[in-house]
Amino acid sequence: MEIFESSEKIYNRIMEDRTGGLEVGFVPTMGALHEGHCALFRKARQDNDKLVISCYVNAPQFDSCEAAVAYPREFEKDRQLALDSGVDYLFHPDDKEIYPSGDSTTIINNSPLVRSYEGVIRTNFFNGVTTVVGKLMNIVPAQRVYFGQKDLQQYLVLKQLCRDLHWRRQLIPVPVVRDENGVALSSRNRRLDSRGWQIAAGVHKIMKEIKRRADELSRQEIFSRYVPAIKQLGFELQYLDVVRFPDYDPAWPADKTAVLIIAGYAGEVRLKDNLPLHLDDLAELE
Ligand code: AMP
Repeated sequence: MEIFESSEKIYNRIMEDRTGGLEVGFVPTMGALHEGHCALFRKARQDNDKLVISCYVNAPQFDSCEAAVAYPREFEKDRQLALDSGVDYLFHPDDKEIYPSGDSTTIINNSPLVRSYEGVIRTNFFNGVTTVVGKLMNIVPAQRVYFGQKDLQQYLVLKQLCRDLHWRRQLIPVPVVRDENGVALSSRNRRLDSRGWQIAAGVHKIMKEIKRRADELSRQEIFSRYVPAIKQLGFELQYLDVVRFPDYDPAWPADKTAVLIIAGYAGEVRLKDNLPLHLDDLAELE
């Protein structure tokens, strides 16, 4: 595995590979790698001749400087996990490489999608993500780019980015990886205490119950029965809704493309999750 800090060097290397006829898959991450990331690596490994990942904590997408500084950074562990996962090139830039002095261009998406759910709660989030992923996709000219369905709204915003800017990349959504209690793996989970884990597992149990009963529940019943039940667990709920894939409009739970979406706090830790109510893998709908 080769490690690159320079965007020019990794760009040149990948262009050499592509000129030689190789297919390249790219997985952008913020590091603090776990099994959820590894599922993306495995899929990209299967589909491509070369696997590139990036580990970069993108400060502008956080709500505050403190939140960005507090994000876990464990490069040595990430390096080892990437090596064990068969990664060919690991891009690990510093802030100056991504935002050189004088940098002043931001990619802004003004769609209704960005003005709902995550976009309302975390005001800088989507513009931070579109800008950094835009930069990363230009630095790493791969044919396929892999994203987790865990961050479903983000995946949809990035698809729109590529469509709007005519970037001919294939974006591939990979299903959510969960622990034995159904809790979606996340770099933030390591800050959960035992009560937090209990809350997270309880939330997932309720999500599964909603999925089991999706054909018989109305939207109103979901809100009136399950919002109090989730709050009773101690989860500080920010939103719970059923939306249609891929437009994210409010959906009827029996709708075949309906996805239950949820976010909130278990103690100090923000959890965000979703569960397609009738499918296991949303890629089936692509
Ligand atoms: P992050 O490092 O949190 O920015 O995540 C990098 C990529 O990994 C994103 O596309 C995430 O959606 C994806 N990812 C993170 N956790 C999971 C998970 N538990 N299952 C599937 N994909 C995930």
